Amino acid sequence: MPVIAARDALERLREGNQRFVANIRSQETLPNHARRMQLTAGQEPFAIVLGCSDSRVPAEIVFDQGLGDLFVIRVAGNIVAPSQVGSVEFAAERYGTQLVVVMGHSHCGAIAATVEGMEPNERGPQSRNLLSITDRIAPVVAPLMHTELVQDRPALLRAATRANVSASANHLRHGSRLLEELRLKNGLLVVGCEYDLETGIVDFFDGAD
Ligand SMILES: [Zn+2]
Repeated sequence: MPVIAARDALERLREGNQRFVANIRSQETLPNHARRMQLTAGQEPFAIVLGCSDSRVPAEIVFDQGLGDLFVIRVAGNIVAPSQVGSVEFAAERYGTQLVVVMGHSHCGAIAATVEGMEPNERGPQSRNLLSITDRIAPVVAPLMHTELVQDRPALLRAATRANVSASANHLRHGSRLLEELRLKNGLLVVGCEYDLETGIVDFFDGAD
């Protein structure tokens, strides 16, 4: 199968999400023996998705995709640390995958924990390991804490979620020489989106136009 251009891959994800929202599951995405056997020869995922570990946001399900379709990296708060960059680099280089999607979501616990940890008299998570996640989100959220958004918690969390997605997408665009080269020379596209738990809709709000 030829490499799928980023724009076509994005369209495939949009269509898959529309099916998910309409409670339709396409027949091709159901696991079956033949497809499993076919994939033992190799994989050609058409998109790379960096999403949150939240149990309510599995990329394959919200985009209605099947075995071998998506190369998925999941980490709480969809943060970008070196191992996430490395995973994206690996798939983009090895499989020629052209589309990279960073997906945040509403009601994200990692975002809420970061915001809570930044409030006066709060010390944030006590675990160093957990802190390694919220510490990556905090610099993105900090500027928002000095705006009127602090008066409106849901609006603050939403803005923080989107700012964090954009920061992760920008990190992938500019924080890796390999990805930057693929972007400038090979048509790699990095986009950011937010999944809405209530509607099931994925809104591609960053870099998708
Ligand atoms: Zn989350």
